Amino acid sequence: MSARLPALPDFRRVVIKVGSSLLVDSAAGRLREDWLRALCEDIAWLHSGKRDILVVSSGAIALGRSVLKLPRGALALEDSQAAAAVGQIALARIWAETLATHGITAGQILVTLGDTEERRRYLNARSTIDRLLEWKSVPVINENDTVATNEIRYGDNDRLAARVATMTSADLLVLLSDIDGLYDAPPSAGGGANLVPVVERITPQIEAMAGASGSELSRGGMVTKIEAGKIATTAGTHMVIASGKTLHPLRAIADGGRCTWFLTPANPVTARKKWIAGALEPKGTLWIDQGAVAALRRGASLLPAGVKRIDGTFQRGDAVTIRDLDGIEIGRGLVAYDADDAARIIGRSSADIMMILGFSGRTEIVHRDDLVLTGH
Ligand code: GLU
Repeated sequence: MSARLPALPDFRRVVIKVGSSLLVDSAAGRLREDWLRALCEDIAWLHSGKRDILVVSSGAIALGRSVLKLPRGALALEDSQAAAAVGQIALARIWAETLATHGITAGQILVTLGDTEERRRYLNARSTIDRLLEWKSVPVINENDTVATNEIRYGDNDRLAARVATMTSADLLVLLSDIDGLYDAPPSAGGGANLVPVVERITPQIEAMAGASGSELSRGGMVTKIEAGKIATTAGTHMVIASGKTLHPLRAIADGGRCTWFLTPANPVTARKKWIAGALEPKGTLWIDQGAVAALRRGASLLPAGVKRIDGTFQRGDAVTIRDLDGIEIGRGLVAYDADDAARIIGRSSADIMMILGFSGRTEIVHRDDLVLTGH
């Protein structure tokens, strides 16, 4: 093992994905309350150290199934959607109540694929999550299974959790399920497989260890976990796969228990900024005054007041170039307003946005997290 393994308390923003089998004892048809209580103690421990914690919780369908006493076996789409409608209410209540025993407020967020994959909706979801985190709440996130159809769904919360982690620039994603890590041979190969403690890069060999995709075991199995690992580590988020079968699974990771770490070479902020700087085609230009140039160079966000003129037809979430009035490129960023709205608020105080547009948008026209300065 060449790399030094990170320690759990080193992280500042952690996404914890909890698999259905951990929360719901499907044989007995009920929730594993003791386990959840123990997990929430671990969450409270991490949260108390000023860390931001997000939970991606599966279990809506499984819980709905037990409440409704549906027969075992595969469910038709309508059945699983309806089961999720019943189960999600119960799931949200259990999380809210259990976290509340530690004085932590939970906030439920249900997302569909488009909420993380379309930039405009992505920004909306991210702003809501950011606000919850500023309030020190713990967002409890799941796919909105009641409206997601086969074509437009994640279907597994491993990849959803990875997208949530990258969207929020989390520095760690923890996948808790009934598997304690990656083994060097597929589970179907039988005995003799060894746990891999660290993956420094996801190579074809690593993927082969997860077994073939499309197999019976792949959904929610190791294949989607490796996919999640790719999404996370490319965007600067470390990932750990650990078993949630024991009580206090997060303490167990912190104490060096069995698990597999997937390390990222990048840091999330740098990775995100690289993506903003390089990967996008700017859709417009914001021309800003010297005061705003100085503010950006001090690390501030761009406010509408500092923008003198705009060009281009861009939508909220598009990349724009930011130039000073001599045309020198100052930076690039993701703009928080459509061009039409931006044209109406530039030069104005952020306090007037509500009055001008009739809705209260963001104070910043480009938030500093969405901004990269040229030459930096
Ligand atoms: N969203 C599904 C549920 O809550 C779970 C998907 C998964 O387990 O990966 O039941």
